[in-house]
Order: sequence, then structure tokens, then C-alpha cells
Amino acid sequence: MIKHPNRDTFLSKHHIVNKIKGGKTKPRNIIMLWRDKHTVFHIIFQSYSLKEILNKWNSFDKYFETHLWKLVFNNNDPDYCKDVIKRIIRIKRKQPKHY
Ligand SMILES: [Zn+2]
Repeated sequence: MIKHPNRDTFLSKHHIVNKIKGGKTKPRNIIMLWRDKHTVFHIIFQSYSLKEILNKWNSFDKYFETHLWKLVFNNNDPDYCKDVIKRIIRIKRKQPKHY
């Protein structure tokens, strides 16, 4: 288990496509998130995939500026956060489907 150097949390596996929606535990479908941010990520985005999150981006605008949003994304503005998610999708698409 990898502990955060300053916070009382550890790295955890997030499934880009949720397991309940058939997402596999393969590197292509996994990103590592700190557990504390990961919990809040699911409060905001429930079990939507990253692609679904992008498609519904404006429906999350009630969270922009909130404490929950800042817990996940710090003080970055929503457009920047959206770009980060796009970049993750692009990087993950390039990873092999099977190892
Ligand atoms: Zn997750």
C-alpha cells in the first residue's frame, strides 16, 4: 500500500468504466487515485465512466466552486479539470487492451 507523504491516505484503484458496468481490472481501465479524493470523486461523479462524465459535464456544475470539488481538483478551474480528464482518456486509449 502506497501512503501519501503528507495526508493520511493511500493510493487506490479507480475503474474508469465501473466494475458494475463490466469494466475490467486491467491497466487500461485503471487510474490510481488517493483514497480521500477517490471517495469524493464518486460522490460527485457517482459511477459514471470518464467519457460519460465529459458528456454530462454541465450537469456537474452545481459542484464547481464547492468544497467537494476542491477536495478532488484543488483550485483548478473546471475547464482545466475537463482537459485533464480528456487527456487521461486519450492516454488510456493508447494502452493495450490485454497484457
Ligand atoms: Zn473509483
